[in-house]
Amino acid sequence: MSPTPIVPNLYVIDLGGVNAYLIVSADGLTLIDTGYARSAERIAHALGALGYTLADLAQIVVTHAHADHAGGLAELQTRTSASVWMHLLDIPLVESGVAMRPSTQSTPGLINKIIYRLTIARAPKTLTPATIDHVVDDGAILPFAGGLRVIHTPGHSAGQIALLWPAHGGVLLAADAAINVVGLALFPAYENLLQGQESLSRLAAHEFAVACFGHGRPITSAAARRFRRKWGHPSRRSRATPRNL
Ligand SMILES: [Zn+2]
Ligand SMILES: [Zn+2]
Repeated sequence: MSPTPIVPNLYVIDLGGVNAYLIVSADGLTLIDTGYARSAERIAHALGALGYTLADLAQIVVTHAHADHAGGLAELQTRTSASVWMHLLDIPLVESGVAMRPSTQSTPGLINKIIYRLTIARAPKTLTPATIDHVVDDGAILPFAGGLRVIHTPGHSAGQIALLWPAHGGVLLAADAAINVVGLALFPAYENLLQGQESLSRLAAHEFAVACFGHGRPITSAAARRFRRKWGHPSRRSRATPRNL
């Protein structure tokens, strides 16, 4: 299946229940997340539809250690020379082949519990170990793809990062900080729900027109306003929606 453009030079690659993203820029291709194990061939097909091969991948950013985001990394490392970037706190998991911390629990609510039991509880708990080349931390500007700002978003996974791409009015790659399958919502599972909600409030303080998710559809306009309505601090929320005062 061809990758779908979201804005110019940003594509979503559907890897079967999880999204990876591709940014095309002058300094090469940047892949954000790698899908489950055995996703490399699907990623190769997606690149092929755009006239590229796996050899054109220059960087891979892995948002967190879960099997649907880091599972394809080991194979991609054998088939590309891309450098791999990840947050300090999830690197030990990926390098030791652990996909998920045992503290991960269902978010309250019946729908969340059902999704958790049907998907997250059944997801692989192990990975083929892979090596991370570069440690990233909150506030860093990654030196490629026009400068991706790292926003540490612990809660779903302690080492999860979101990325803010300063193009097209700002594009947030939110990973699994939230989900947008049937509306913008909390993710169905967190290691620490309170910390996850704090991370969403931090994301809501940024400006971005577009938001993309590990699971679900992108929000393609006024995305930060949607985040602020749900998770903004009261002062920011009132500034964002003055007509509601
Ligand atoms: Zn996840
Ligand atoms: Zn996920």
